Amino acid sequence: MEIKKDTTNEMMIEFDSRPGNEGFVRVAVAAFCTQLNPTLEEVADLKTALSEAVTNAIIHGYEGEVHKIRVVCKTKENVVHITVTDWGKGIEDIEKAMQPMYTSKPEMDRSGMGFVFMEAFMDQVEVTSQPGEGTAVYMKKAIGR
Ligand code: ATP
Ligand code: MG
Repeated sequence: MEIKKDTTNEMMIEFDSRPGNEGFVRVAVAAFCTQLNPTLEEVADLKTALSEAVTNAIIHGYEGEVHKIRVVCKTKENVVHITVTDWGKGIEDIEKAMQPMYTSKPEMDRSGMGFVFMEAFMDQVEVTSQPGEGTAVYMKKAIGR
């Protein structure tokens, strides 16, 4: 059988929204992406952005309740595409939520910089959300430029 040489590669992990799982997902995605031969800095950028998105799903999406979070990571040629989805409370005003220093949880010592970091460390960040239905954060980054 002839195997087509395909340049896309995809994986998906679904896990409970427990804070202890955040490190595991970060390492799993980083390990998957090493196939693109990223620099240490590029790996650190991916991990930081992913970590912010997953932490948001845990803290804001589910507000500490334990439900599922899904991370899909796809590589196509030299570009990494990551989507983090939760089925939690959702975001009313996405534009406001993405502003630097905006947080809905100042009492929890949140600084409102999560989306700022995601945008700084990735090439593109797109948020889709429905109040009461959940949130999906899509991010992409080209490796090796
Ligand atoms: P920090 O990330 O600096 O600890 P933060 O989480 O409040 O603080 P951001 O990560 O920038 O800051 O998120 C801004 C706001 O967007 C949050 O305070 C929250 O209201 C909303 N938000 C982000 N992600 C989600 C999500 N998955 N579900 C619901 N609301 C979210
Ligand atoms: Mg955050």
